[in-house]
Amino acid sequence: MPHTPTSDATLIEPKPASDAPAQRFTLDLVIPVFNEEAILATLFERLTRVCDSIPGCEWRVILVNDGSRDTTARLIREQHARDPRFCLLSLSRNFGHQPAITAGLAHASADAAIIMDADLQDPPEVIPDLVRAWREDGAQVVLAVRRSRAETGLRGLLLRGFHLGFRWMTDFPIPAQTGVFGLLGKPALEQMQRLTERNRFFPGLRAWIGFEQRVVEYDRDARLGGEPKQTFSRLFRYAADGVLSFSYKPLRLMIAAGALVSAFGFLVAAYFVIKRLTGVETAFTGFTTLVTLVLFLGGIQLIAIGLIGEYLGRIYDEVKNRPLYIVGETVGIRDPARESAQRPLV
Ligand code: UDP
Ligand code: MG
Repeated sequence: MPHTPTSDATLIEPKPASDAPAQRFTLDLVIPVFNEEAILATLFERLTRVCDSIPGCEWRVILVNDGSRDTTARLIREQHARDPRFCLLSLSRNFGHQPAITAGLAHASADAAIIMDADLQDPPEVIPDLVRAWREDGAQVVLAVRRSRAETGLRGLLLRGFHLGFRWMTDFPIPAQTGVFGLLGKPALEQMQRLTERNRFFPGLRAWIGFEQRVVEYDRDARLGGEPKQTFSRLFRYAADGVLSFSYKPLRLMIAAGALVSAFGFLVAAYFVIKRLTGVETAFTGFTTLVTLVLFLGGIQLIAIGLIGEYLGRIYDEVKNRPLYIVGETVGIRDPARESAQRPLV
């Protein structure tokens, strides 16, 4: 006869004593790096200090060298020789921030992966909080949300404006003030690895995969050294990817603009017809009005065509189906894709 619990006491599992050794887990840190020689030493030192302080954590850092032209790759190789937990994944050229993150995530295999920038704007000291939210609260996706940001001037203004406008523009709720910084538990990581789209907006994809998501707040520091590697034009492209990959609202806005202009045209036409029928003569001397209307309509049409072109270009990118990145060199990390490519054909 199967055993059936007879009292509540039999259902209660014993809790581990608080001083029991912490359960071990593995953690991969994915960090894209592009010409970051100025800050690497500090990054290595702070990461080691913080990650070593997390009980039970077996960690590894996957540094994705995104075609750096300075001594970045050499510095990472030297660090690997000192501490093999730092691994190098060098791409064959500069592919950009998002492809570099994708490459790093494709090689991550730990119980959880943390994605962060190399410039220490995402402070490593927040990592224990991310791990706690994952291990203790059971969230598979932990987002680091900026309570404040250090960027000022035009860059800061545009970044703030983008986050404000973005929520309104997209059909899909993506938490404001989140960047790439955050943690993915293994199930979330595996789902993220399945997403192969080319024009990637990581915060959007992370929100899209679902799972239980938690937020950890932090203050975003200023860049520790060097210039920002994401140029304004790249940030604009990234912002466009964010909006166009997650929303058809721009197209709908164009339809709304077309409807408004048509309605206006209809009203003006009706006005002239009524004037003519009622016998009131209208001396039409509106050359300026005509030129203004033609230019206005021409402008709107060009914007609409450009917008369709943006969507079309992205479809073209998908159809070509080129790989998102090419790995040139690995140190301390296996690359299954290259191994299978080098295997002799039988
Ligand atoms: N980065 C990269 N490839 C690029 C540009 C940037 O891997 O083509 C890396 C860079 O080294 C940094 C992170 O992406 O670790 C974010 O770059 P940055 O700090 O310039 O961007 P921002 O903080 O302005 O978004
Ligand atoms: Mg930065």
